[in-house]
Amino acid sequence: MASTGSGTDNGVGMAEVLQALKVIQENQGRLATEVEAISQRLDTVAPTTQDEKALPQSVGTASASSATATEGETTAATTNAAVQAQESGFTSRIILTTYPKQIGIKPLPLNWGAPGPERGPVVVSRSSSTIRKRNAHGGSYSIYFALALASKQLNANHRPDFTNTEPAANIGPFPQWSDKKKIVAMDPWGHLAPWLYADTMNKENVDIRPTIAITKAHMKLPELEESVRSGRLVPDGKVCLNELGELAVTKFAVEPVWYLPGVAERFGIDEGVLRRSLFEHTGGSYPELITRGDIKVFLPPIGGLTVYCFGDPAKMSDESCKLALRVHDECNGSDVFGSDICTCRPYLIFGIEEAVKEAQRGGSGVVIYFRKEGRALGEVTKYLVYNARKRGEDRASDYFKRTENIAGVKDMRFQALMPDILHWLGIKKIDRMLSMSNMKHDAIVGQGIPIHERVELPAELIPADSRVEIDAKITAGYFTTGHRMTDEELQAVQGRMWDE
Ligand SMILES: [Zn+2]
Repeated sequence: MASTGSGTDNGVGMAEVLQALKVIQENQGRLATEVEAISQRLDTVAPTTQDEKALPQSVGTASASSATATEGETTAATTNAAVQAQESGFTSRIILTTYPKQIGIKPLPLNWGAPGPERGPVVVSRSSSTIRKRNAHGGSYSIYFALALASKQLNANHRPDFTNTEPAANIGPFPQWSDKKKIVAMDPWGHLAPWLYADTMNKENVDIRPTIAITKAHMKLPELEESVRSGRLVPDGKVCLNELGELAVTKFAVEPVWYLPGVAERFGIDEGVLRRSLFEHTGGSYPELITRGDIKVFLPPIGGLTVYCFGDPAKMSDESCKLALRVHDECNGSDVFGSDICTCRPYLIFGIEEAVKEAQRGGSGVVIYFRKEGRALGEVTKYLVYNARKRGEDRASDYFKRTENIAGVKDMRFQALMPDILHWLGIKKIDRMLSMSNMKHDAIVGQGIPIHERVELPAELIPADSRVEIDAKITAGYFTTGHRMTDEELQAVQGRMWDE
């Protein structure tokens, strides 16, 4: 510092430099104020199309035209690109990210864990009237939404007409809904959002969507017709409607909504690590996971779940009624297409049949279906594992090793987040758990919901080729009242070979 105080080679003194800097600073401040004032006037003139102009252009944003145009293109072309972007419902400048306290950024208050709907709505829409008020990242089905907008099949300004879409059954509210340790992976107010927050939607022009919907239906499964014929299931006209085994059901579709601090806590990891991992492994799709620590909620674009409730939905939370429950993870090949390499569809059907029986006895029967195809590794990985098994010896003793060799893990279903739906439904205990999985059992009990009885899949419902899977699982800790095989016995359990 001492050497700079006495002047520089070109004769400009330090004091003058400082004075010049001060002037620049003041000008910058005035300019920012003026830009904001103009932006606000534009907002008033055209609130649905001009909102994005209030976002400062400097840090974290880039011109849409400069991002797409190459050097030498005319101004007309770049203007055209901006116009096209706007026609597709995008802001005129690409907003790479935003920062807390940035001018024009005013997320709607969202106080996760607040006792009632005063918690505030989950707002994730990037529509021009809402983007500055968002309090969540991501969005279920956002990739298809993006395709529909880009191909101009969806109008960016479309707002849902929610007339008559109200839930077909009442549920809650339960004290669990405001417990930050119990519900972290879904929005407990998600089925009521458009009605609870109608004022915010209408008066403040905010795009709010439900993340849960509840409907009623009939369902027919060929196996259940057989159940009636064989006398295992008796039609009562209410739950099992007729000789065809047709069922009356209340269905709840739930999309994932993650409260990031709660999800991190559930896994015993740091929230920053969780955010960084999500950011990195979505190809940097959600930079606000990094820049917006004030936004705590993320809607991951992954599959959700469906609750199939047999009997009166109010009985699920009634501790004086018995509850039978199956938690089932998606296996499309078996569940829908009848593949015999695993026990998935047989267990699903058994779960439904037992749930129906419990409802007929005056209790409640529930089947929850999670979209976690192939242990959340996907069908491609699953088929690679099948090939490795069938081209090898397909022994039960090597069952888990095959998956681990390919995927690096045995399983990525993360049952830790699964019990949230039970808390949301108000379930406080499970009388009959229609599952042998120790991972599901431990997750539920770990969340303070006791399981009184575990019911395994009856042996006669296990397809021959799926013995490899079920025996391997039993030896690895799955529940059984029967024999748990030794390593030697497991070696002897072999599936159908490639050419059989
Ligand atoms: Zn399966």
